[in-house]
Amino acid sequence: MGDKLRPAAGFGPRLLMAQGLVILAGSVTVLTVALLLAPGLFRAHVEQTVGPIPTNLAEHLQIAFARATLTSLLIGVMAASVTGLAVGWYVTRRVVDPITAMAQAASDVAEGQYSTRVTESGLGVEFDAVGLAFNQMARGLAATERTRAEILRDLAHELRTPLTTIRGYHEALSDGVLTVDQKTYALIEDELSRVERLVDDIARVSVIEERRYDLRLQQVHVKELLTTATASATLSFQERGVTLTCDVSQDCVVRGDPDRLQEVLANLLDNALRHTAAGGRVTLSAACSNNTAELAVADTGEGIAAEHLPRIFERFYRVDSGRSRSRGGSGIGLAITRALVEAHGGRIRAQSPGPGSGSTFTITLPTEPKPTATHPRHKHGRAE
Ligand code: ADP
Repeated sequence: MGDKLRPAAGFGPRLLMAQGLVILAGSVTVLTVALLLAPGLFRAHVEQTVGPIPTNLAEHLQIAFARATLTSLLIGVMAASVTGLAVGWYVTRRVVDPITAMAQAASDVAEGQYSTRVTESGLGVEFDAVGLAFNQMARGLAATERTRAEILRDLAHELRTPLTTIRGYHEALSDGVLTVDQKTYALIEDELSRVERLVDDIARVSVIEERRYDLRLQQVHVKELLTTATASATLSFQERGVTLTCDVSQDCVVRGDPDRLQEVLANLLDNALRHTAAGGRVTLSAACSNNTAELAVADTGEGIAAEHLPRIFERFYRVDSGRSRSRGGSGIGLAITRALVEAHGGRIRAQSPGPGSGSTFTITLPTEPKPTATHPRHKHGRAE
């Protein structure tokens, strides 16, 4: 009920009424001024031309003049009011029609018709800016709605697989087909962990994509970024027999949140490790140019076929969903990675010569001017 506006006179009648008031005020002013000034001026003019005239004749003339003036002014004012109101009605329609169209479009969007758009009003830049902003908002809502539907569909699909497996075990156990032993518990545990991981990833991707987190921006040296990421990942690489090399020959400064950038590198290193067999190599490197830093994670692993490359950053997209799922992948890691990189004003791309030939993921970030001795404020690692 609080949402409902009180029914009131529309904007059009009010605008027309305002114009009527302007005409009325103008007319009253013209009449008053003319009646106060014209008779005196007329008498002075006559006396100047024919000399002094007798008082009774002067009064006669004055009354006759005042009447003639009043009559013609009244007719003039009435004619002006009619033409003025006609023009006012036209102007009012020109102004009110686009506003009515905008109100209708807003109510359509409120009812969920996100394809509604408003056309250019022709009322000037301010109205056009409102129209443009409205269309942008409607497009944004349509995209959000599409994403929501996609997420629900993908989510249902992703949850169905482990839940079907768990139900299968449950039925086999209750029918006595399967015996209760450590192996069965471990299998069920695996599927449950998969669901948990999926739920965590989904929560994380929605926080990241909706930017519901703070970026603690500061100046970050890419060399330090790579060294830290390598140190954190070394142990798991050793365990899997994959060589991790860090090339820190170049250094430059980017503006970013070191924790989030570490998360980005950790995701890429984790992927590289999961897709590279023992004996393979993963290299982390940086290349600095004038305005950008390019961080690359290159592996000699299984590679990615050209048809999959454009899609791997999409949520839930996996090249080989069965295999990836069995390795714990929910297809969300790269979506999170891309959203984090873009929040830093950067870009991420994947390249691969093809299956079996390894992959390279490259992040491009804008760089900051290098700290110099004359700018002590730009000291490395200092939060701003
Ligand atoms: P997942 O959690 O399944 O790994 P990601 O979003 O991290 O999901 O990756 C999407 C898909 O991209 C993966 O399923 C995998 O097929 C492919 N991919 C990612 N990184 C690599 C890599 N370094 N080498 C080969 N394929 C990769």
